[in-house]
Amino acid sequence: MRRFVCLFDQKRESSSASIRADASMVTLSFPSPSLSFVESGTCSKSTHVSRVLFSGPHGESSEPSKILRDVHISERLMEDFTELARENTDKDLETCGTLAAFLERGVFYVTTLIIPKQESTANSCQAMNEVDVFSIQNERELYPVGWIHTHPSQGCFMSSVDLHTHYSYQVMVPEAFAIVVAPTDSSRSYGIFKLTDPGGMEVLRGCSETGFHPHKEPEDGKPVYEQCSNVYKNSNLRFEIFDLR
Ligand SMILES: [Zn+2]
Ligand SMILES: [Zn+2]
Repeated sequence: MRRFVCLFDQKRESSSASIRADASMVTLSFPSPSLSFVESGTCSKSTHVSRVLFSGPHGESSEPSKILRDVHISERLMEDFTELARENTDKDLETCGTLAAFLERGVFYVTTLIIPKQESTANSCQAMNEVDVFSIQNERELYPVGWIHTHPSQGCFMSSVDLHTHYSYQVMVPEAFAIVVAPTDSSRSYGIFKLTDPGGMEVLRGCSETGFHPHKEPEDGKPVYEQCSNVYKNSNLRFEIFDLR
């Protein structure tokens, strides 16, 4: 098992204690009421938090369909994952990983990326030995708040198989998000998505098909999935990677 540790500048006794210290000084590009607990502290390092927003043909930012807690991810997450996936990407194979977070004062901080043993093709990625992933999460008392995978040769979107995978995350944690990294998509190299709730969640709950298949539109007129508007990139969030492959 290879273990990578990124952006560590001090030993940590517990993840929540260390992140709290890190988050003591935060500047916001986009004000967020739930971040108002953050105040200037003794931490000398300044942290920049920016909301992940998109614009363009796929990316009109929209209001979340439900009030969700904010999620902070490391600014380096997509970059580091792209690097770890490169060998597969070059062979037109997908790579997937699970994202785990701790919850503090109503904010999820994603601190851990776990890349399980996996079997993949150009348009699928199946995690194996998921018990290893659960044990890392359980040891650290982390929530499985999301997952990340590559589309080595396809665009940046959620396939029907992705939507079913994601449903199982969002059923557990309403804030669960899916990051799609698409290095060959010239319009957008990554996207952060979730199922609309209740519309998309109901469609997936009622769908028993497997493989790639079309989904009907939700009855409320919304799309099945949408961009997350509650996910922020935090420049000083500690983040560790377990590569179990
Ligand atoms: Zn996919
Ligand atoms: Zn389906």
